[in-house]
Amino acid sequence: MTRDQPGQAGIGPNAQDRRCVDVESAAASPGALVCARCRRPLRYPTRTPTPPHLRGRVLTAVRSWPEGAICSGCYAKACETFGACDRCGVERLLPGIGPGGQRWCTDCAGGIGDFTCTRCRQEGWNHYKGVCGRCVLRDRLTTALDDGTGHVRPELQPLFNLVVSMARPRSGILWLTKPHVRPLLHQLATGLVPLTHEGLAALTPWRSAIYVRDLLVAAGTLPSVDRELFLFEQWLPPWLRQVQDEEHRKILTRYATWHVLRHLRQAADHGPIGHYRHQNARYQLRQAAAWLAHLGSAGATLDTCGQRDLDQWSAGANAHQRSAVRAFLTWAIRARIMARLQLPPTLAPAPSLISRQQRIQLIRRLHDGDGMDLTERVIGLLILLYAQPLPRIVRLTLDDIISPDDSNDAGDNSDHVAGMSIRLGNPPAPVPAPFDQVIRDYLTARPNLTTATNPGSRWLFPGRRAGQPLHPTSIRLRLQRLGIPNLNSRSRALREMLVQAPPSVVAAMIGYAPNRAEAIAAQAGGTWTHYAAGDHWPTHVAHRSS
Ligand SMILES: [Zn+2]
Ligand SMILES: [Zn+2]
Ligand SMILES: [Zn+2]
Repeated sequence: MTRDQPGQAGIGPNAQDRRCVDVESAAASPGALVCARCRRPLRYPTRTPTPPHLRGRVLTAVRSWPEGAICSGCYAKACETFGACDRCGVERLLPGIGPGGQRWCTDCAGGIGDFTCTRCRQEGWNHYKGVCGRCVLRDRLTTALDDGTGHVRPELQPLFNLVVSMARPRSGILWLTKPHVRPLLHQLATGLVPLTHEGLAALTPWRSAIYVRDLLVAAGTLPSVDRELFLFEQWLPPWLRQVQDEEHRKILTRYATWHVLRHLRQAADHGPIGHYRHQNARYQLRQAAAWLAHLGSAGATLDTCGQRDLDQWSAGANAHQRSAVRAFLTWAIRARIMARLQLPPTLAPAPSLISRQQRIQLIRRLHDGDGMDLTERVIGLLILLYAQPLPRIVRLTLDDIISPDDSNDAGDNSDHVAGMSIRLGNPPAPVPAPFDQVIRDYLTARPNLTTATNPGSRWLFPGRRAGQPLHPTSIRLRLQRLGIPNLNSRSRALREMLVQAPPSVVAAMIGYAPNRAEAIAAQAGGTWTHYAAGDHWPTHVAHRSS
């Protein structure tokens, strides 16, 4: 077991920040006790409860080790850090920290106790009376997945194995204490609910059901289906039921079934449906419902709706609403439930660009890494160097990074892979120095491999959920916080590339549809549109640094 957790034992950047703040507040009350590892203010456990003004700000000391008092958070981390001891080299639990930040086993650290489980004889988090978290998790999960014979239902054994192998059994134990989880697992274990996607779709609450569904897919018990499509299919029936007007509900059901859902299913046949496509499908339906309600309040229906009704509405609507309703009206006209009217024009708002200078500054910041973690830096670089959209970024896998160290085995493409490259399209795009080093650093410290139940994840950006990559929305929020404008940066990156190479070459290399890149080039006044596809251009064009 060589799993280590970034930021473990308060040596990560966040802990550093906290340290500055809390050392100040600790200094304000001289002689105050602080945790020997994270330096956060501490108090020794007493019978008197924590006074309200200190609640959440002062932690309780749970251990007194040779280095000093230890808070509960640092103690828990110490019990979950595995690897090779920096002193004796043995692979085991590393609860100790040396003066230079070395990770030590309990024998080398000395004086911090024995962490061996009295039942399984393995080291780890002592959950209860000398029994480790893993043993406790095993017991509780065996009960939860009992099919009535006193054993785990055989079909659920892979799920069982997956959960008990998680690096932090504590999170599994916590999961089982949530009120909905056990009843839900019980229904699956006893066969009250069939072990299928349909069976799971019927379970509530849906968040817990989806989590179990993800685990079952990750365990190989259920085939993987498109996650976003599944979510949409679950959302649709209750949403339709809450539409008050019966006539509207009928029309929307037809629209949802024959247009929205059909298109989503077709798209899912060709590749994963992104988060935004799913959200957009919901938006289209909500806007269609709002429009029908608007018509109704004006005393009209879809049959009687005239050009004036439409124009009046259109004047007060924004571009997003117009485009969503336009999709509905186009369908309604085709389905002959509405007269052929002149539809409102839709203009896609042109993204405003960041300047060339701003782009260079952002790239420099990403390279220096000021105030960002490695995940944010790599994602920022993919946007600013290669104009990659977030839904595509999160679906990259380890196999998409081609490094010269492993190209010997690949053989065939060794002639043009001089440095690292990344497979965004075909041919792979080169990663210029010094950015290849940022990616290399990231690869050695990929997060979420221990917290989630996916230690073997191939995602370049593994998420917290089993078998899932990071969620695009969570990245978008992080980028916003860091002041990296996603869409505008992408447009600038694309234009910069198009200054140097024909759209067809750029499009192929970064995985854009050729007509899309051409349209953007035309908008940007690009000079490449008259070149034939890739005739005059060597393949190393995107090789450019700031
Ligand atoms: Zn601490
Ligand atoms: Zn040791
Ligand atoms: Zn044990």
